[in-house]
Amino acid sequence: MTRYLLLALITALPTVAQDAPAKLRILVATGGHDFERKPFETMWNELPGIAWREAQHPDVHRLFRPDAARDYDVLVLYDMPSAISDEAKADLVALLTAGKPLVALHHSLGGYDAWPEYWAILGGHYMLAPHRLNGIDYPASTYEHDVTFPVKVVDPKHPVTKGLADFDLLDEVYGRFWVAPNSTPLLTTTEPKSSPTLGWTHRYGRSQVVYLEPGHGPTSWNNPVYRTLLVNAIHFAYDQTITR
Ligand SMILES: [Zn+2]
Repeated sequence: MTRYLLLALITALPTVAQDAPAKLRILVATGGHDFERKPFETMWNELPGIAWREAQHPDVHRLFRPDAARDYDVLVLYDMPSAISDEAKADLVALLTAGKPLVALHHSLGGYDAWPEYWAILGGHYMLAPHRLNGIDYPASTYEHDVTFPVKVVDPKHPVTKGLADFDLLDEVYGRFWVAPNSTPLLTTTEPKSSPTLGWTHRYGRSQVVYLEPGHGPTSWNNPVYRTLLVNAIHFAYDQTITR
């Protein structure tokens, strides 16, 4: 084979499409709430098709800027910050309005308790304090650790829950949190200590958002069903975001 022919063959090989990278680059935001670091990192290292890195507060806000956001495909929130500058607010809103896939987990529902636009981004909110929203008074939300509860899959054909049957989980549950009326439920429970909706999809600007309430610790992180949900959520958010 001549060198020319070899070169021609190489250049004729299909290139990987820009919107289908071999591994999705995930930025995991942490800070503002404790968690068991080692099993959390192990889970992320073992998730298939994922290249992840962590950013801790206060560094996270710098990564909402458009030039920095080009370095990750999906933003995952596992943080529970309270403070955010006006500049960081504007950067996050602009990023999501333009289209950045977003998966929010567990205690991120209680982030930015004084910034209702964040509640609108996630399509729900854990009220750290009583709040009034659109003329309705909401009490503070509640939590309970180490609860075994049934999880019902709302639609086994949905890309996030495809092929999954109802299952039990041992995890922390939250009660009395707010879910936006325009969120689409993915997972529900009949556990009385929990609010009924445990996961949902939501749109904000051009971004696809998925929120999953479970994920306090290893009992969920080491659960294969939870890992499947998380990977599916990341791919769904990525696939359904209009521009990235
Ligand atoms: Zn927790």
